Amino acid sequence: MGAGAGALFGIPGWLRPMSVGVDTLTYMDPSLPLRQDIVWFREHVADLNVAHVWIHLPRAAATDPEVLHAVDRFQSEIESAPAVITAVGPTTPDVNEAINAGFEEIKRLEQLLSTWIAESELSRVNAAAGQKPVLVSPETMTVVRRSLQIAEVTEGAFNIAVGPAVAAWGVSAEPRIPTTQELESLKPLMDLHAVHADVLERTIYLEKAGMRIDVGGIGKGYAADQAVMAMKKAGAVAGVVALSGDIKTFGHLPDGKTFPVAIQHPRKEGALLAEIDLQDEAISTAGDYERFFEKNGIRYHHILDPRTLQPARGCQSVSVIAKEGIWADGLDTGIFVLGADRGMELIEQLDDVEAIIVDQEGKVHISSGLRHRVRLSAEVDRHNREQP
Ligand code: AMP
Ligand code: MG
Repeated sequence: MGAGAGALFGIPGWLRPMSVGVDTLTYMDPSLPLRQDIVWFREHVADLNVAHVWIHLPRAAATDPEVLHAVDRFQSEIESAPAVITAVGPTTPDVNEAINAGFEEIKRLEQLLSTWIAESELSRVNAAAGQKPVLVSPETMTVVRRSLQIAEVTEGAFNIAVGPAVAAWGVSAEPRIPTTQELESLKPLMDLHAVHADVLERTIYLEKAGMRIDVGGIGKGYAADQAVMAMKKAGAVAGVVALSGDIKTFGHLPDGKTFPVAIQHPRKEGALLAEIDLQDEAISTAGDYERFFEKNGIRYHHILDPRTLQPARGCQSVSVIAKEGIWADGLDTGIFVLGADRGMELIEQLDDVEAIIVDQEGKVHISSGLRHRVRLSAEVDRHNREQP
């Protein structure tokens, strides 16, 4: 199983440790006069293992003291993914409260949506498949309804009913290669017409016994959206919520800059593919390098093509930028399955959605609305120009 793509929320070189607590390190820009209000906290720095998108936080030196003066950053192990939250606010207590509110919201949603948690709402929906509808929260209803909408937009490429196939491949446990007959026998369970999400009754019913819905392809983007709302409510004026490859930003850094985000190169661990500045936007990346194993030289990864129930082969990585994390996350997985050509066609049809797609040959495709905003790394740019 390939691990996440390395420790990428690297502490910028210009920061040096100021004090070391039991599990908290405090970093400060050495060029700054000692200011208690610009501190960066980081928990468990040593074993940080964050997936494939990360943030460069520039020097916080040009802080306007009258407007904003606290920027704190916490990392925490949420059950399903490492999460990093950065907040900017008028005072340190505001910022701390916003960071806590963000994490609390993510944990709350995890209890509803994670299929790793046996008592979660979705686990109960799955356990009742073929038997009865299950009453769910408005949040679970939103994620499932939006998933069905994205399934329509992506012509079925995004399909939350792939749960039994995800389990057959052992994506989240022991990886294995299921036989063709085994996958064939699971296909009837991927029928989205058999997923009944009744808004008025607030129930979800899976019509066929053995069906399992899995919102792993969209849930983190939604959680990032919701965490941002909670942070704003708690007093943050700007910030970043990063859940593995799903990042949502809001507002500006204290010096007025937008948040710069980098996308990992899908085939060179630790190398950058591109950088882009985000403003009140979310970015989500789906890659075949995130969770995979290799057998006889073939790479098997965690995004399945619902038509074949085999790992989708069209792309190496897909990053989608949208206003909402739920869209960005759902679409990155769906477009990964559709492949570069059909995927880019779809992106160009959708308003306020942009994408950077690396196809199977490693060529980078950038949507028209993004070309002037993306900074490809020099080597990637050169390689891209040499391609037909
Ligand atoms: P992401 O990293 O957002 O691309 O999501 C990957 C996760 O989505 C996988 O680990 C599966 O749980 C789930 N998944 C895999 N294939 C699909 C698919 N075709 N449609 C929806 N979800 C999928
Ligand atoms: Mg996704």
